[in-house]
Formats: sequence, C-alpha cells, structure tokens
Amino acid sequence: MIRVTVWNENLHEREIPEIKRVYPQGIHGCIKEFLSKESNLEVTTVTLDMPGQGLPRELLEKTDVLIWWSHALHHEVTDENAQMVAEFVRRGMGFIALHSSHMCKPLRLLLGTTMTLKWKDDDSERLFVTCPSHPIAKGIPEHFDLENEEMYGEYFDIPKPDDVVFTGWFKGGYAFRSGVTFTRGNGKIFYFQPGHESFPIYYNETIQKIITNAVNWAKGDVLLAERDNVMVTD
Ligand code: ZN
Repeated sequence: MIRVTVWNENLHEREIPEIKRVYPQGIHGCIKEFLSKESNLEVTTVTLDMPGQGLPRELLEKTDVLIWWSHALHHEVTDENAQMVAEFVRRGMGFIALHSSHMCKPLRLLLGTTMTLKWKDDDSERLFVTCPSHPIAKGIPEHFDLENEEMYGEYFDIPKPDDVVFTGWFKGGYAFRSGVTFTRGNGKIFYFQPGHESFPIYYNETIQKIITNAVNWAKGDVLLAERDNVMVTD
C-alpha cells in the first residue's frame, strides 16, 4: 500500500459560501475521495487547524506521499514544521504541491527560489503533455482543456525542473510550466498548477488521473534505513 496524506489549509472552503458549495468536504475531502478508489492507496487527510498543524512527526513517519494545498495561510505554518516536511522529503517522502502551494514554505525551502509568477483571475487553460514518456503523463491525452481556471504565467521563478510534464496555455495569451518535477535528496517532488478553489478542477477526471499517477510516481522507493543516509545531522 502507498500511504498518502493530504494536507490542506482548509480556509476558503470553510469561510466562503461559493467555495463551500464547490468543495463541501474541503479540497482535501475531494482529493481523498478519488484517490481512495485506488486499491493500492491508503489516504489520510489533515488540516492546518488540527493539533500540530496536522503535521505530527508520527504521521509523516508513516507517509509515503504528502499532497499539499495552501493559499492564504502559508505563513501560519511554523518554520519548524516546514523544515520537518522538507527533511522528510529529502529522506524520500514524495511531495505533491498543488496550485497556490507554489508559495508554501516546504516547497520554497526545498527549491530555494522565490517561486513567484504572473497571475490573473478567470481565464481558460489548455494543458499540453510536454514529456509524454513520463509516468505522470501515462494515459493523459496530448492536450486537454479546463474551461475555467485562474491564469498562472511565466516567468515562473523555479529552479530548472527535472521534467516539464505539462505546459499550460491560457486564452489570455500567457503560457506556464504547469506540471514540473524535481528531485531533492531521495525525494521526488511534483508541482501541478491547476486547482483554483473557485472551480471544480479536482472533480475533472483527467486531473484526478494526473494526481493519481503522480502519487504512484512520487512514492519513496528507498528503504527508511537508506533514507537516513541523507538526513542532515549535527
Ligand atoms: Zn488560486
């Protein structure tokens, strides 16, 4: 079994009625629902308001892949918790950062750049597979459309990715490296741009397939004992 933990700041879904209508169980609940259909995945959800900010060390010890969604409350995640998540990733825990999580503390720690980008509300996006041999692109059409999505545009200040699996083109004229992979230590990292909270993006079957593929790809293949070789100790 691959043990997946979905972490969500869970703010907009609680506070804004229109977004609650889209995700009555929260974005984490929606992601859990479709991932739980996979017989090889065991899914746990946690939120920022839980004890230990939903990130107790014992949970991370039992997590193969951590999925992260945050937007307005990046700063509330403590530096200690962000460092701990980054450390687990370097040891071999997979990390999937969704949408506005490009600015989350653990990802910024792991990648070391500003992670800034261009932004505009209400657009529509066509996503192209730009690395068809990649496991995350398996079974995904060469391009597909999201009728409504927030625009994220270049320049996206990330380090050079291992692979650009998806590239987004927006009707408004911008392009974006929408699905990018990195390796840090033993950990595989996937950043995936779609998923603005106002739109039912995570109900889209192609998006669900991509996230499912990403979980299967990012799971740590390295034994825990080997992971410890890359732990920073003093
Ligand atoms: Zn957004």
